Amino acid sequence: MSISALTDLTRAATKSVYVETFGCQMNKSDSEHMLGLLDEIGYSQTADMKNADLMILNTCAIRENAEDKVYSYLGAWRKIKVARPGTMIAVGGCVAQDAGLDMLKRAPYVDVVFGTHNLHRLPDLILAAQRSAQPVVEIYQELPDDLPETPVVRLNDISAWVSIIYGCDYNCTYCIVPYVRGREKSRSPQSIMEEVLDLARSGYKEVTLLGQNVTAYGHDLEPKLHLGHLIESLGKVEAIKRLRFLTGHPRDLNDAIIDAVKNTESACEYFHIPIQHGDDRILRRMARGYTVDFYRRQVDAIRSRIPDAAITTDLIVGFPGETEAEFLNTVRLVEEIGFDLANTAAFSPRQHTHAANWGEQLSDHEKTERVRYLNTVVGDVALKINKRYVGAKHEILVEGRSDRSASRLMGRTRTNKIVNFEAAPEYDKLIGQLIEIDVTSANPWALRGSLPDALGGSWQISSGLESFVSLSAPDVATLKYSQACCSSEAAIPVSIEKSRD
Ligand code: SF4
Repeated sequence: MSISALTDLTRAATKSVYVETFGCQMNKSDSEHMLGLLDEIGYSQTADMKNADLMILNTCAIRENAEDKVYSYLGAWRKIKVARPGTMIAVGGCVAQDAGLDMLKRAPYVDVVFGTHNLHRLPDLILAAQRSAQPVVEIYQELPDDLPETPVVRLNDISAWVSIIYGCDYNCTYCIVPYVRGREKSRSPQSIMEEVLDLARSGYKEVTLLGQNVTAYGHDLEPKLHLGHLIESLGKVEAIKRLRFLTGHPRDLNDAIIDAVKNTESACEYFHIPIQHGDDRILRRMARGYTVDFYRRQVDAIRSRIPDAAITTDLIVGFPGETEAEFLNTVRLVEEIGFDLANTAAFSPRQHTHAANWGEQLSDHEKTERVRYLNTVVGDVALKINKRYVGAKHEILVEGRSDRSASRLMGRTRTNKIVNFEAAPEYDKLIGQLIEIDVTSANPWALRGSLPDALGGSWQISSGLESFVSLSAPDVATLKYSQACCSSEAAIPVSIEKSRD
């Protein structure tokens, strides 16, 4: 029976699904697609794990002890299943892709195991497990030739993730991604454009293009494309005010991509380009395929075109055989480049990777000490950069209430700096809006701001939508929305009707 036929049978009885997601934005985006697929067979999302009809664990294999974490979660879920017979458990993502059938040896109460290449099959697998009352395990070794377009239920209604390329063709000696995610496969520009147009129609303001190696986009398409082409064409969707992309490989970043960011109004001046280490010998052992000097030239290429661009990176500390002098080369590079921020991690051996079996592994104590030291330098450098924002107005997209303090709203600058500011509940009207904010102070990880001086009477919201809103707050008379002009060189601008706000 086809999914659509089964959909008709199951639609009437709405069931609930709880999804727990480990790992990166790609995984979070996959979870949104799982929710979209399951919606088609009558499941709606719940935050109430204990009363869910179906619990899904979307796993990540990147972090240390990833498997242990998965099985410890599943152990807790087993108790829920025992207390509530009929509850189903499904496990997907990178750990499931790797474990396959073996997962049932350790967790025989799991109903469905699926991998990273057959997410589109989830409804069929759930229904098959229900029909047979037997566990169902299905792992594809590769993505299908024709990438399936899957429905999506988005968990954020301001900013959306759009996957544009899957997998990775590199083979870094510490990384499990090529093993569990396979080779690079780009989505067609047409399907990406359709998805972005849909987002624009739904009122989204920001789109982040995702991929394990997003800068490699399009090399496998016929005719070949690059990320710059995609940015330029998506830049014509006027309603999308901010375009970002994550995560790239320094080798695949080229002048054409940087020029596209520079010339496309909506493309944010923000580059996350993981260097991983500041020493050439270690980079060689990591099989990264570039030298520190090559990376410097990439940074120069960005800054010569976009001087105010923020550049962030990832750094691994304590790679097997890393000497203290080599570690200090990473520290010096952070100071020299002046990274806006760096994600730092101690090397941890991953099964199925080359470096896991190498000698010269550093002790946990050494790695921890080095990460701690590096973090202080990263923080110092970030603070110096963030202080440059203080005393000026910056455009932010307001995302919602701060996780840390309900009295504050938070948003991000185009350069991806978090800005928190005090705002009474009536200012929730700003959520989803682009506003100019006064930045008043900085720490390494975020900025503090304040709504522009109420005595001035009005302040600008550069939402690109013409309308006026009066707030009840006595100290701010009027919020003035002004038409923002998109200066992209779009020959044929794409008009999107506003359907939200
Ligand atoms: S480029 Fe990134 S995803 Fe690909 S193998 Fe290297 S670290 Fe892993």
